[in-house]
Amino acid sequence: MQKQRFQGKVAVVTGGNSGIGLATAKAFAAEGARVAILGRDPKTLAQAKVALGANAIAVQGDVARVADVQKLVDTVSKEAGRIDTLFVNAGIALFAPIEGVDEDFFDRQFATNVKGAFFTIQKALPLMPRGASIVINASSVIDQGMANSSVYTATKAAVASLARSLSRELATRGIRLNVVNPGPIETPIFGRLGLSDVEIDGMAKQIQSGVPMDRFGKSEEVAGAVLFLASDEASYVHGSSIHVDGGMASL
Ligand code: NDP
Repeated sequence: MQKQRFQGKVAVVTGGNSGIGLATAKAFAAEGARVAILGRDPKTLAQAKVALGANAIAVQGDVARVADVQKLVDTVSKEAGRIDTLFVNAGIALFAPIEGVDEDFFDRQFATNVKGAFFTIQKALPLMPRGASIVINASSVIDQGMANSSVYTATKAAVASLARSLSRELATRGIRLNVVNPGPIETPIFGRLGLSDVEIDGMAKQIQSGVPMDRFGKSEEVAGAVLFLASDEASYVHGSSIHVDGGMASL
């Protein structure tokens, strides 16, 4: 029988309209949570809202804009009253060699992945009671060097650092914070890297050759780790991280 670890709980997932975020939002809903998601694309947001059930909340907004993050929190406050678990997941990845990086390329990734993560947590906290939990989506690349991804990997290392300091700060408030570090996961993100199909194919083969399990992971496999970290089963897990990467970073 399906576990129901989030019955009666409110779960917020940024970037819950695609890939890892969508799979995790569905998993929260399947275990009883009322789910709220944030994303920019109205089409995939509407599709996700339908998939997440009648009482799901979908807010259109850009996580890099603090006013949009506040809109998400205000909507959840009005419709659901609190946040029991927050998955800080929205992110972009743009790949280019150092000469191909301009100011906009750099700023967009830091604004979305780092500023967005920080203010999502800051704005959500007033709605989070003792016993609530936060999971941040970083990446297994924080432990590695990967050509053409210097800006993206720096954003993820920054997020992992934010997570450590905020875990210290939140410990006495009874709010747990942990990190999930996915390895290569089959999601639409690979189509948005700014690379040609041939380049993506070559990169995917190269990445896979570095994965001891010799395959890409699935979004649902990341969702499983997120739900564990978010749930009361992980009641003494704090300031920690789980790699979901087929052994890529550690073996
Ligand atoms: P997707 O591109 O499928 O999903 C990204 C999600 O983030 C979408 O829902 C997107 O919605 C949302 N998003 C992006 N930018 C913004 C923004 N400015 N404001 C609001 N929402 C935004 O990719 P993944 O599922 O793969 O990525 C999810 C997270 O997982 C990212 O943080 C990524 O870095 C991380 N990750 C992914 C790995 C992988 O191999 N796939 C590996 C390691 C980490 P919309 O476009 O509608 O705004």
